[in-house]
Amino acid sequence: LDIPRIELRDGTSIPQLGLGTYLVAPEDTERVVAEALEAGYRHIDTAMIYGNEAEVGAAIRNSGIPREELFVTTKLWNSDQTRAVEAFEESLEKLGLEYVDLYLIHWPQAMFGEALEAWKGLIEIQKSGRAKSIGVSNFEIEDLQQIIDETGVVPAVNQIELHPLHQRPELTAFCRDNGIAIEAWGPLAQGKSDLLERPEVLAAAEAHGKSPAQVLLRWHVQQGRIIFPKTTRRERLVENADIFDFALSDDEVAAIDAYEAGTNLGPDPRTFDIR
Ligand code: NAD
Repeated sequence: LDIPRIELRDGTSIPQLGLGTYLVAPEDTERVVAEALEAGYRHIDTAMIYGNEAEVGAAIRNSGIPREELFVTTKLWNSDQTRAVEAFEESLEKLGLEYVDLYLIHWPQAMFGEALEAWKGLIEIQKSGRAKSIGVSNFEIEDLQQIIDETGVVPAVNQIELHPLHQRPELTAFCRDNGIAIEAWGPLAQGKSDLLERPEVLAAAEAHGKSPAQVLLRWHVQQGRIIFPKTTRRERLVENADIFDFALSDDEVAAIDAYEAGTNLGPDPRTFDIR
């Protein structure tokens, strides 16, 4: 499986496609991650709050794949923003790894005003070499601007809800202008929309001999985004990764672009205050 890599601003690079593990139950996680690695995935996205770091780590350690060929992301949970270094060490311990490739602040939680302190913690962690890259998730322009202005350190990525119904044009332009790579979470709109049945998606799928899900995932990668669609089914792991041998035409891309509705299916980062 030949998955392209995206260069990050700090000199590292990330496989453009990985496996997401949100809502993958701990008892399923080791199997699903092992099957993904067998299928050729080399990038796994988890988080402390997903409750499956230990199982992700076990699958990685048991895979026999050299650690340097793998890319592992985990995230700092909201209640840990003032104890980032300790929380990071707890995550490493659960993963059973010496380092992660990418560590993210999970939500900005601007209402609590702790994200800057968290970011300073991540900067320390990166200096220690135990997170090769650091970034953020669900950050709005103001949240990004604050940590950049205060520390001079620009996040390598911003992991945000992004799919055809919610394309975040201003935020993605800000990220592009600042060299922040976009990771699109919910690339398939979390299975909560009618996108896979829309006529333009079906027509493109038919034209290329691909599935509707492959068309949507291809739409993301053609715009340079990093994605990690989640599935627990082996045949879908293979399907979701088989998107690098065709290209959507400009018209096909434009038809999907036109689905933009400004509709978030997950929490609104400006008001999400769960800790
Ligand atoms: P997703 O868009 O990847 O959708 C997953 C759902 O799509 C599956 O449950 C299944 O119903 C469906 N699906 C998957 N493959 C399919 C296929 N080939 N054909 C038809 N349907 C298919 O949603 P997600 O899991 O929420 O997002 C991906 C990853 O992003 C997560 O697993 C997690 O790692 C990350 N994430 C991060 C945040 C954050 O706040 N940073 C929030 C949500 C998700």
